[in-house]
Amino acid sequence: MIGLEIHFQLKGKKLFCDCSTESYGVQKTSFERILSPTASEMGFYDPAAEYEKTRDRKFRYVSTDNSCLVEADEEPPHSPNEDAIATGMMVAGSLNCRPLDSVMFMRKVVVDGSNTSGFQRTAVVGFDGKMETSRGPVRISSVCVEEDSARKIEQDRKVEEDVLYSLDRLGIPLLEIVTEPDILDAEHAVEVAKSIGFIVASTGRSRRQVDSIRQDVNISLGFGRVEIKGIQKLSLIGKSISHEIERQRNMRDAMEILKKRGGMKRPIMFSEAGKYFEKTESKMLKNAFRNRLSIYASVGSNLDGLLKNDQFRVGKDLSDIAKAFGLGGILHTDELPAFGITGKEVEMAREELSPGDEDAIIFVIADKSKAGKLSDAFTSRIKKLSSLDFSETRGPLEDGSTKFLRPLPGKDRMYPETDVPIVQIGSDARQRISEFVPRSEEEIAKDLSEEFSISLQDARTIASNFLLDDFRDLTETTKDGKLSARIMLQTIPEMEKKHKASFETGELNRLLKISTEMGWSRNTLENAMEVMLTRKLDAKQSAKEVQEASLSEGDLMVLVKEIADASGKEIKPGTLIAMLKQKTKKSFDPKEAIEILEKLK
Ligand SMILES: [Zn+2]
Repeated sequence: MIGLEIHFQLKGKKLFCDCSTESYGVQKTSFERILSPTASEMGFYDPAAEYEKTRDRKFRYVSTDNSCLVEADEEPPHSPNEDAIATGMMVAGSLNCRPLDSVMFMRKVVVDGSNTSGFQRTAVVGFDGKMETSRGPVRISSVCVEEDSARKIEQDRKVEEDVLYSLDRLGIPLLEIVTEPDILDAEHAVEVAKSIGFIVASTGRSRRQVDSIRQDVNISLGFGRVEIKGIQKLSLIGKSISHEIERQRNMRDAMEILKKRGGMKRPIMFSEAGKYFEKTESKMLKNAFRNRLSIYASVGSNLDGLLKNDQFRVGKDLSDIAKAFGLGGILHTDELPAFGITGKEVEMAREELSPGDEDAIIFVIADKSKAGKLSDAFTSRIKKLSSLDFSETRGPLEDGSTKFLRPLPGKDRMYPETDVPIVQIGSDARQRISEFVPRSEEEIAKDLSEEFSISLQDARTIASNFLLDDFRDLTETTKDGKLSARIMLQTIPEMEKKHKASFETGELNRLLKISTEMGWSRNTLENAMEVMLTRKLDAKQSAKEVQEASLSEGDLMVLVKEIADASGKEIKPGTLIAMLKQKTKKSFDPKEAIEILEKLK
């Protein structure tokens, strides 16, 4: 039971103002907002909103060159971007959705501060569709056009409380395609995501940026719905689904053991335990005491061996909650003594709490108010897990695993957007929509291969990995399709794997620009890329290093000529290279040297 929610950004103008979807990275002013949840017309509070409120967060925003008063929520939205709506309808039509003749925007409550207004505007442009796949039909619940959220620019510092958002992304038109839970497994999910991606790419309106595609996966295995939000790479969809299936099974097993032991007999109640650690040698604790924090301890009723043992990871789950409250995590008796904390110290704290045989002790390093809040949060967390309700929103990690983000938002969170009039679809737009025919992966690859004179195989790899737009951008910089294909498909992945590091896209682009302007050989460029990656230099520094360390074309010619004059022009290429290496410590392109020799003949 797997469903996908796929998002694609559209390029051009934003959804409710004339700002461009592209920013030059210029930051203007900044301002702060505090969001307060309000009850719905039915008198209910959204659970996700209430949860956020307990975290006492303040949100800060930076306005950019591509944002105006609309994004800051100081001015009502302008009339919606009709091009974006038509694009959404083309995609909806290709997915066999029911045609609509008018579109109405709704407000969806958003509680994490990623919208200055506290809601996101969204409009259904198609529903009740269906697509064919190799393993049977997958139903499409809806296709929506919505506004993208603000982009977090400071996050995951130790304290996650103060979030800084940039308005550059807020308001970019976003297509959201939601499938019913008809997807069978991880592999099937990847197939569906790809097919939908090709339809969207065929519109020619999808935005080409690293973070422009985001997928959410909904998984229901009988323990409530889990939403994994914001998977950026297609390759991670399959991995995340497999990990999540395993995590839920292990959690179920752990909760069954807890139930057999009689469940949670005492709530989590953190009490100060600093006195047992006064003479500690643990650097972590000493550091905490210096920062006026203390260590708090609680019984984890019947949790011994379930916090971290074989496949059981209830401790990791609680740790994610602690992190959401801005703490470093938790410590517990399944993993202690460790981190410089001794068995004796743990034993003293333990005795005070007079635990039962199957109880664990959980420690947190925090201040008093946070420890109190965590007592309640952990208690309700364990209650929820032991009722086998795993429903929540989780975030993807690079290795395919996930972490707790927040409770699932409630269902009663949409209401009509009265600032935006209902959009009627005119006959011109309807014509354009009905004429749209999506292209297949193979057609896209063939065109690409012809346009840039690259091999069909490379073109297929680029198309099937959604690298089309990245490739076009890259080739705009390098002016050389073959070189771009090689850099993208070989050089970058090989170097990143070899050095276990990743390129910073902006700097790499600058380096490629320098290379094109200077007419570098491929060899020099690859040397510069390696310098950049291994020594963490910026583009200018890397270029300087490599130019200083490499022979200019003129110098290389002089050296080759010297060798040819001394040893004869019939010298073997291998010998030429060996002799060149004796003559100079600077780097050069062997291919270039051999070409010079050929020309001398
Ligand atoms: Zn604007």
